[in-house]
Amino acid sequence: MNPPAVETKSTSNRSDLPDDTDYEVVVIGAGVGGIYQIKRLVDLGVSATVLEGDSDLGGTWYRNRYPGARFDSESFTYGYSWNQEVLNEWHWKEMFSPQPETLKYLNFVADKFNLREHMQFNCYVESMQFDEANCIWVLQMRDGRTITTRFVLTAIGLLSVPTLPRINGIERFEGKAFHTFDWPKESIELTGKKVAVIGTGATAIQLIPEVAKEAESLTVFQRRANWAAPLNNREISEEEMADIRLRYDEIFETCARTPGGFEHEPDRRGFYSVSAEERRELWDRLYDGPGFGIWLQNFVEIFMDEDANSEFSEYIADRTRQRVNDPVVAEKLIPKDHGFGIQRVPLETNYFETYNRENVLLVDASETPIETITESGIQTSETHYEFDVIVYATGFDAFTGAFDKIDIRGVGGESLRDKWADGPVTYLGLLVSGFPNLLMISGPQTASTNFPRGAELAVNWATELLEYVWDAGKRRVEAKSESEQEWFDHVVKMYEPFLLKSAQSWITGYNSNLDGHEYGNTRYNIYNGGGPKYADRLQQEAQEEYQGLTFQ
Ligand code: NAP
Repeated sequence: MNPPAVETKSTSNRSDLPDDTDYEVVVIGAGVGGIYQIKRLVDLGVSATVLEGDSDLGGTWYRNRYPGARFDSESFTYGYSWNQEVLNEWHWKEMFSPQPETLKYLNFVADKFNLREHMQFNCYVESMQFDEANCIWVLQMRDGRTITTRFVLTAIGLLSVPTLPRINGIERFEGKAFHTFDWPKESIELTGKKVAVIGTGATAIQLIPEVAKEAESLTVFQRRANWAAPLNNREISEEEMADIRLRYDEIFETCARTPGGFEHEPDRRGFYSVSAEERRELWDRLYDGPGFGIWLQNFVEIFMDEDANSEFSEYIADRTRQRVNDPVVAEKLIPKDHGFGIQRVPLETNYFETYNRENVLLVDASETPIETITESGIQTSETHYEFDVIVYATGFDAFTGAFDKIDIRGVGGESLRDKWADGPVTYLGLLVSGFPNLLMISGPQTASTNFPRGAELAVNWATELLEYVWDAGKRRVEAKSESEQEWFDHVVKMYEPFLLKSAQSWITGYNSNLDGHEYGNTRYNIYNGGGPKYADRLQQEAQEEYQGLTFQ
């Protein structure tokens, strides 16, 4: 699974740069993708730096410090696959690693390869403009500096711009209030506090059971219920880790073969070719099994066929009912407006049991909407609730938000923000026509997979493309507009067979707190063809010498 060994070259200027250009390559973002990208560039001896807006590396794992934050990927499928020593040395302590441990891991990797010396922190890129005459990008930094580079690689995350709810009076609240993404670094004492959580997405579903254990009272404001299933986390012993180390090649091969980049393989027996009892047996096993098995080891018909989806949703609804003591609360926690797996499935630990606690109250914000935030709490259409702390678990300006925050101007001053006003349009999720020498790691319209598996694929592909450009003595690479259109049409077509096309979810661009993101304004944010098909397409592009690109 390692990329081919690369010879370390001593030259740093690969594309005949004007003398005063700062770098051959700038990577924006020091998260999972940015760390690996800079490693590849450093190994090639290229003059490169990472610009990171935060004060340290880690991206998602630096920022999401709320209690309960962890990934839903089996830890050993989430780690980097590209270095045997890292694989041998790192012990994942839990099946689903919590945020502090994952941040430690990313620091371990960065320190092992001295990558920090190639990173600049508190360096926020405000704008970038392509200078056609010199064929370089000119970046304006928030600190007033100008940085020039031939190539820009963005690794800025797909859920890195939090959105606060548009509720009147939000600025009036006199207690502590913050979005989960901005959970205080020094943490916060919740003991004896009255806490509100607004939202019931994957983030809130991780957070709520943890807050309930600490706070005097917890009130959850739920507008739409979300399906959820148990994570079934556990510790990984030294012995088990030793066994996992022996299996790494096999693990990563499986991840490369499965649509989602996990060890979970879909059940291909066919929903209708097995009996209802056999389906139930599978579901019982998956419900008690780890992670996304319940979603990804299921029958594929569940994601495409309304009847199959309703039968399975009813199964999950029953399991939920068994866990919640109050039948009225249980019904409120069961979605009635969409089926299981149509939106990204949150995985939980004691989420439903949390509503059996005396100190936890569920407020149905669709029945009694939040009207205002007051100095001391939240006013719904019916009641005023007093709080010390309000936590907004209200989601993100997904996929394009991080790009929109930077004023990116391509050929002729074209604005990327304008080009993507109705949703992203890319070539292979990696390039954008009209924006030469800009490559996106885990950008919109790449395959939706276990994040690092997709990020590594993108980093390897982007790095090989740069080597191709350098070897060919070129200095400019850009997607052809007709190739971009073809990819976009294909991305749109790949939404068609799936029920998720009508999801009220960030995957289709929905966000009630952003103009233009209303339900129904579908944005084609991901490639639904799965990891293996996507990887094949990337390989074909490289093997056929980049037919969709132009070089100068
Ligand atoms: P989200 O799924 O977009 O959920 C946002 C929640 O806030 C929704 O319940 C939404 O309700 C609610 N909301 C927004 N504005 C509101 C308002 N004005 N009033 C009341 N409720 C409001 O965001 P998220 O939970 O942060 O999750 C986003 C994604 O991050 C996940 O799907 C997942 O991919 C990723 N994530 C991953 C992990 C992990 O790996 N384990 C953990 C957490 C998150 P409506 O549905 O009614 O709009």
